[in-house]
Amino acid sequence: MTLPEKIVRASFGLKGIVQHQLDQSYHSPLIDKIRAEGFSMKMGRLEIHLAKEFGFCYGVERAVQYAYETRARFPDRRIFLTNEIIHNPRVNAELQGMGVQILKDDASHAGITEKDVVIMPAFGVTVEALREFQKKNCVIVDTTCGSVMSVWRRVEAYSGDGFTSVIHGKYDHEETRATCSRAAKYVVVKDKAQAELVCQTIKGLVARGSFLESFKDACSPDFDPDKDLGKIGFANQTTMLSRESIEISDLLRAALRARYGETGLESRFRHFDTICSATQDRQDAIRELGEKHMDVILVIGGYRSSNTGHLVELASEFCPAFHVEDASSLISSDKIRHKKTGAQDILETVSWLQKKGMDPLRVGVTAGASTPNRVVEEVIQRLIDIAN
Ligand code: SF4
Repeated sequence: MTLPEKIVRASFGLKGIVQHQLDQSYHSPLIDKIRAEGFSMKMGRLEIHLAKEFGFCYGVERAVQYAYETRARFPDRRIFLTNEIIHNPRVNAELQGMGVQILKDDASHAGITEKDVVIMPAFGVTVEALREFQKKNCVIVDTTCGSVMSVWRRVEAYSGDGFTSVIHGKYDHEETRATCSRAAKYVVVKDKAQAELVCQTIKGLVARGSFLESFKDACSPDFDPDKDLGKIGFANQTTMLSRESIEISDLLRAALRARYGETGLESRFRHFDTICSATQDRQDAIRELGEKHMDVILVIGGYRSSNTGHLVELASEFCPAFHVEDASSLISSDKIRHKKTGAQDILETVSWLQKKGMDPLRVGVTAGASTPNRVVEEVIQRLIDIAN
């Protein structure tokens, strides 16, 4: 059955209509000013240094704009989001305030009709979810980022050529689930330790049962480690730590070489770096900021944001770094609420903004790709209030 094509993947041409609303919600004159003045500002003893690249990336900017345009284009229709549009609570709350409903689970899809509009987020949806909404004959506004789609094309090509996709990512992240749904065979590794396990399996040093137990949620149905790890195509979730992705790719290549020899290695291993340029630019910028000797770095972003978590990981290599969601996380100059990298819990830490003597207090600030400048501004304002 051919399904009617009602998927919109471009602007409705209403940017002029929604721009004012977007500016009011997300733009920050203060951030523009700090950028224009060399990415830093001083207030008494406090020095604030912004990373050269931070905040909304091109994919997020586009997805949010399309969501606002969708509301303007269909003022009388019910509009649903298959998930959060991006991982930032402020942006999702603003859309909900405009009457856009977030579908919490599969059961909530049941009431969707052809009169409705469904928006798909920047990180995309699975093939199964796309088909399901196509069958409902509703209007679909697909805001999937082009960089995510290029990962999909990569794993589809691997599958077409009989390669298993090894994906460096988080198996429960929406983007990676969407990517997996496009691969015939896949296994998802979240870090080097899991990649090592795959490598040991390739070399025949890990029992099949042990592999399947370790990756029971993170490999394709019917995955057979004895057969499916002979030809590997490597890809990554767009927001992973690029350094780790390169290391994992090298480990896999070395494992195949150890098992099958150098001859014909190119017909057994393919690699394509699918970290997006926006993620890479933000990771490079946080390293540059760290090298400038900050006393502390604030990394602003939703707690569910993968790219924000990796920025915290990198910043922590230079000085204490705190992942905060918004201005309310800065409870006082003594206490901060934050999320630790890799952990789920939200913590409160004391004595986070202390420096003895009269030397300048140098605070670095960056933000994940889904954080609006307005939120960054509010954090900076709060920092100025409590530090002084
Ligand atoms: S982080 Fe990268 S892949 Fe994700 S929306 Fe932004 S540009 Fe696209």
